[in-house]
Amino acid sequence: MAFEGLAERLQGTLTKIRGKGKVSEQDVKEMMREVRLALLEADVNFKVVKQFIASVREKALGQEVMKSLTPGQQVIKVVNEELTALMGGEQSKIAVSSKSPTVVMMVGLQGAGKTTTTAKLANHLRKNHNRKPLLVAADIYRPAAIKQLETLGKQLNMPVFNLGDQVSPVEIAKQAIDKAKEDHHDYVIIDTAGRLHVDEELMQELQQVKEIASPDEILLVVDAMTGQDAVNVAESFNEQLDVTGVVLTKLDGDTRGGAAISVKAVTNTPIKFAGMGEKIDQLEPFHPERMASRILGMGDVLSLIEKAQTNIDEEKAKQLEKKMRTMDFTFEDFLEQLDQVRNMGPLDELLNMMPGMNKKGMKDLQVDEKQVGKVEAIVRSMTTKEKQEPSIINASRRRRIAKGSGTSIQDVNRLLKQFEDMKKMMKQMTNMSSGKGKKKGKG
Ligand code: GDP
Repeated sequence: MAFEGLAERLQGTLTKIRGKGKVSEQDVKEMMREVRLALLEADVNFKVVKQFIASVREKALGQEVMKSLTPGQQVIKVVNEELTALMGGEQSKIAVSSKSPTVVMMVGLQGAGKTTTTAKLANHLRKNHNRKPLLVAADIYRPAAIKQLETLGKQLNMPVFNLGDQVSPVEIAKQAIDKAKEDHHDYVIIDTAGRLHVDEELMQELQQVKEIASPDEILLVVDAMTGQDAVNVAESFNEQLDVTGVVLTKLDGDTRGGAAISVKAVTNTPIKFAGMGEKIDQLEPFHPERMASRILGMGDVLSLIEKAQTNIDEEKAKQLEKKMRTMDFTFEDFLEQLDQVRNMGPLDELLNMMPGMNKKGMKDLQVDEKQVGKVEAIVRSMTTKEKQEPSIINASRRRRIAKGSGTSIQDVNRLLKQFEDMKKMMKQMTNMSSGKGKKKGKG
């Protein structure tokens, strides 16, 4: 999981201040020192860190901050907001041209994930926006890039425009757009040629393609694993091409996260998508706010809900969302949702999105299916009343439940504690977002 080191350090720092009824200038100073170190260690650009710290410090000590919530929570709220702003604030969506087709030019260095992302994006546009994209194989330099796109096209059952590797990318782009108009495609996604390094020749060629294709969107694909290099690459591409958006790939790896946090601040180009794996459906719209919450251990309830909505029937998802928001979530719901949740994907991935779940000490719940079976057995051994009102579960009830489920009292205690912690986290998060005023809905 990306950001693990950073998340752990920041959460550790923030936990110290969370409950404080009073926050002194000295507290903020000390905390900022730790946040600064954590960010630098995560490979965040030095200047970006400096700016970030300065603005958090100023806001954390400012008047307005000290009113609602506890001061400790306020400081965390400021950190969360500034981190969100740093990554672009609002979600930045892919361009839609007023006249069809919308032309998207994909650029990037070899190995960044450009060809894969081209196909992923086409899949995303069709699946989630009901579009009809044409894929264009214009990476004539990397051996096998054309074939790779062809294969991906077949897998998606989507047409790929291909003139082989002896025709110039400029010519390919030109003919592809004509073809798209002819066949009524509403998106054209051009996989341009990459190189191993940024060089003059590459930039010239891309500029020519840009001229002929007049793209509505130039998406730069960068590899998050390369850290500050990714940011430097973004800077040079941007200087030459005026990139309109960045796709950060390999965020599923154990990148320290520096690129995700610095790219927008350094290049002033928003991250529009994140690659979360090699599979064709592992591309996600980038939500700065959710990413910030995830880094700060407030989980990612919104992403979770969205996932639920695409994989669970609408009605059930709505109930789940409401319960999570009102903190009405009981063990009964837990059981009911368990099967549904299992349909959504790997459990540890989902649990990671839940508030508090990626915190140290709660790793026990990031479990394998066997462990889930144990949890399920414990919950099933509770009476209806206990499921609805876990607070009534005293020592003798715990003993009974452990016996009934074939587990130990420690197991039962642990589960009850985790459930409470989870609810507390959710509450905190809800307070925080309501403190921010009415915000966007889901999605
Ligand atoms: P290109 O040279 O930029 O076109 O790169 P490719 O599309 O061939 O991707 C290079 C490698 O990165 C391939 O093995 C891809 O499967 C892999 N890759 C691309 N995006 C992701 C991602 O988001 N996560 C992971 N784990 N691998 C990715």
